[in-house]
Parts: sequence; structure tokens; C-alpha cells
Amino acid sequence: MARPYTPGVDRAHPAAGSAPADPVWSSVRDRLHASGLRWTPQRRTILDVLAASDGHVTGAELVERCRAIDPATTPSTVYRTLDVLEDLGVVRHHHGPDGREEFHVLPEAEHGHLHCRVCGRSWEVGAAEVEPMLDALRRHRGFEADISHMALVGRCADCREIRRG
Ligand SMILES: [Zn+2]
Ligand SMILES: [Zn+2]
Ligand SMILES: [Zn+2]
Repeated sequence: MARPYTPGVDRAHPAAGSAPADPVWSSVRDRLHASGLRWTPQRRTILDVLAASDGHVTGAELVERCRAIDPATTPSTVYRTLDVLEDLGVVRHHHGPDGREEFHVLPEAEHGHLHCRVCGRSWEVGAAEVEPMLDALRRHRGFEADISHMALVGRCADCREIRRG
């Protein structure tokens, strides 16, 4: 089922200095090293903030939360680290209706996104739901679409109902 979400809402702010408890996060440090990146206090802060985030979070929100913990955090450090984490498969991103990036933190399952341009709500859409479309693109064009980067903008059932009524 599609799960509604609102970017930037209901996300816990981490306590300063809290350690990522998840074993996946502890391994990120080693993987950063393997990618030739140093483990800096700023990167540690970004990982702490990401570990405490649930669901979708924008780059701007991450910068804001990191700055609340470490005012010296620069947006370029945050975005560079996000690029690396995406290469490592720790985060994925798609684009909201305004084009800004929303990051999936450790997505449990591949999913795309539906955005209603009327009411502004968003839903996740599972791989199975869009598989017929993905399959058609594969067969007719040999094109493998990246569902987690996919966002469809349109009108939701409620908003279509209002317009008709
Ligand atoms: Zn993108
Ligand atoms: Zn998502
Ligand atoms: Zn709507």
C-alpha cells in the first residue's frame, strides 16, 4: 500500500554526541575509509543525524540539523558526504515536485513516489505496483528505470473527487 509521508515532519532530532546504534552505521565508517575518505567529526555528525532520521529528509534539513549540533558544518561537506553514502548504498534520493532532493535513509524496499500537485501530499509506491510499466520499458526500449529515483506528479483520489463534485 502507498504510505503517505510529509517531508520534514515528525523526525526526531538526535542528541549531540549520540552514537549510531545500528551495526550498518558502524560499518559505514569502515566503508568511508575504503573509499579514501577520512572519518572527520563533521562526517560523524552527519551520520549521527542520518541515523536519527526516519524516512525522507531533504539535504537542507540535514544541513540545518547538523548545524544545530555543529555550527561549523558546511553545506558542501553535507552534500559531498551524501554523494558518498549514496555510492555506498546507504542512502538514495529522488526529487520532490519542486525538484529538490529528498533522501531515503536506509530504504527497506525499493519504492517510487507519487506527489499530488493539488494538496501537496506524497505517497510511496512499491516496486510491484509499477512493475508493469518498468517491464514495458525494459521490453520495448531495453531501458532499466530506477524506481527509487522516480517521482510521479499528478492528482490524488481525494483531489480528483473534489474537482468532480
Ligand atoms: Zn536525482
Ligand atoms: Zn521514498
Ligand atoms: Zn491531492
